[in-house]
Amino acid sequence: MSPVDIVRNRLATLECQGLHRKRRTSHSACGTRLIVDGESVKAFCSNDYLGLAADPRIAQALKEGVDRYGVGSGASHLISGHHRVHYQLEARLASFVSDHIPNVAALYFSTGYMANVGAIAALAALDPDVEVFSEALNHASLIDGMRLARVRTSIYGHCDVEELESRLSASTAKVKLVVTDSVFSMDGDLAPIPRILQLCEKHGAWLLVDDAHGFGTLGEHGHGVLEYFSLRSDHLIYVGTLGKAAGVGGAFVAADSRVIDWLVQRARSYVYSTASPSALAQALLASLDIIEGADGKGRRARLAHLINLLNRELHLERWTKLQSSTAIQPVLLGDNEQATQVSKKLHEAGYWVPAIRPPTVPVGTARLRITLSAAHSDEDVVALANTLNHIESTLQRS
Ligand code: PMP
Repeated sequence: MSPVDIVRNRLATLECQGLHRKRRTSHSACGTRLIVDGESVKAFCSNDYLGLAADPRIAQALKEGVDRYGVGSGASHLISGHHRVHYQLEARLASFVSDHIPNVAALYFSTGYMANVGAIAALAALDPDVEVFSEALNHASLIDGMRLARVRTSIYGHCDVEELESRLSASTAKVKLVVTDSVFSMDGDLAPIPRILQLCEKHGAWLLVDDAHGFGTLGEHGHGVLEYFSLRSDHLIYVGTLGKAAGVGGAFVAADSRVIDWLVQRARSYVYSTASPSALAQALLASLDIIEGADGKGRRARLAHLINLLNRELHLERWTKLQSSTAIQPVLLGDNEQATQVSKKLHEAGYWVPAIRPPTVPVGTARLRITLSAAHSDEDVVALANTLNHIESTLQRS
């Protein structure tokens, strides 16, 4: 069998299992109405929670950044790619969490995936005797960080604080690191961060919180999950991503300045990668101003309203709308084929709601992942709920 035949067989297996994924091509700026493969759709699938991805103020800042600094950065941060605007961005990002982490500094990465992989591997390199305690539903980038670090890993059940406590108590590791998403990306629920932090303080462990879906949307000023729960601790290592609510791209790690200095030395995804363009940092500074200001506050209020509206209007009998107070509002169907079928029916009705299947979620928990944005209208949300109610009732009858 040729190498290509082996690939062809594997792809055919995925197809049979209903797990083969295809990309659809959008022709529009990111928004709630898109032209996709030539058709007009109402999109409920992006992570552009505040509707900032095509914001003219941020776009203008990006253009000014390009005019001033050109396009490419030319090298990694430790060679010559580190620019004054990166420095300003990191100072501004640190200010977002300065009430929550003493002596805080921030480090800007090109993507959230790189931030997580780099931070975990660097922390695991602190000592030969490290143990990482990882929540069962953590994002792939956190898991890959642990794999790359080849570190001893102990997995605790979803939001199971008791299990985490017994695993921490049993551990004799010199360096303990608890790693968790704040908002679970495929479930939309919140980790019990205050209780987890208490445990970390009791057991002398670090707590790395990946707030990819909380940054910008949680807390009065959009500072994220630490503001939302009013937490402060020198045990915290915070990861925020900037391609979701912030509408641009990249991510940052914020922690005690000495931890950040260690990451500059040892986070390989930072050290060995070309710095992202300075113009992006300029755009991000504009986005942070919006998030923190009155406009951002209004957008968060609008998002909260739409979350309530969707939950009020959805009347599902057989499928389960997972409990979630965040922009991620999943509907659990279980079966891969059925999830794909319902996503297709929604598509025929003019909605883009992706079916999420294993390996992204555990086997038997295929779901529709509805994501809301402050840019959606009330009418869009009510119409989506009605369409889904209708599809469920017709499938039930057939
Ligand atoms: N963490 C979580 C929880 C995520 O959902 C994602 C992206 N889906 C990432 C990290 C990775 O961030 P990025 O897209 O910036 O690489």
